Amino acid sequence: MTSAAKAARSLRYLWALPNSALGAMLGIVALACGARARIVDGALEIGGGRLGTLASRLPGSRRFSAITLGHVIVGASDASLDALRSHEHVHVRQYERWGPLFLPLYLGSSLLQLARGRRPYRDNRFERDAYASTVRQPPRARHDGDRAPRHEGG
Ligand SMILES: [Zn+2]
Repeated sequence: MTSAAKAARSLRYLWALPNSALGAMLGIVALACGARARIVDGALEIGGGRLGTLASRLPGSRRFSAITLGHVIVGASDASLDALRSHEHVHVRQYERWGPLFLPLYLGSSLLQLARGRRPYRDNRFERDAYASTVRQPPRARHDGDRAPRHEGG
């Protein structure tokens, strides 16, 4: 890697740092509840534990399998992290592009879709981009049968 490429990578991490700090706080709570951490493709993935079990059992629209905050991805389980990796890493790239603007833009996109009578999550611009770029995982990697794993970019 050239020094210019290293500098560009450092700037992406720095630009996403406020969001990564939020992710780290959530990650610390997850780790305290028994989750495990690993680094995959430049992002810190934290999965499992009691917090993950709780997240996957939340009612209806509040249930999720993974959430990405900057360079930190917190998943309900290792299986959900495996199944959602390509989608969540699209969100990591979005944080690298938009930095501190990402969460307000993500929320704004959801509100705009809601105002248009569309689905605030699935029709969110950032989610549409992430779904469009998602590599399909083999069915055995899915942790919850035929129900699509739910995840959040913000
Ligand atoms: Zn997403």
